[in-house]
Amino acid sequence: MKKNTAAAISMMLLVTCVMVGGVFIYPNQRAARRNAVASGGQMPFATVLACSDSRAPVELIFERGIGEIFVIRVAGNMAMNSDVVGSAEYAVEHLGIPLLVILGHTGWGAVKAAIRGLCARLRSLWLG
Ligand SMILES: [Zn+2]
Repeated sequence: MKKNTAAAISMMLLVTCVMVGGVFIYPNQRAARRNAVASGGQMPFATVLACSDSRAPVELIFERGIGEIFVIRVAGNMAMNSDVVGSAEYAVEHLGIPLLVILGHTGWGAVKAAIRGLCARLRSLWLG
């Protein structure tokens, strides 16, 4: 697959259309594909920064297979540390991936916990 931003966006939009249509084919998820990318290397067309939430499996959400999406998962999907930023930089610099998608979802437990913690800290600072 040619790596350019327009093609990558088109692939993600196509995925959205497939999802809206309710037709799922789950491409490139069999042993043959796994063996091909293991020996031939990965050529993902998009990087997705996603939450670690088990209800948000990136390849399944975007209807993509093995080796097609470079996934960075962290609770709350925030790029707050060098591990996450370094992974994103690797995707761009070494894999030449032209598209970064930040994937949110409803019911963010990690974000709610962070906000609760922040509010508790602020209350403690202001009210003692
Ligand atoms: Zn989450």
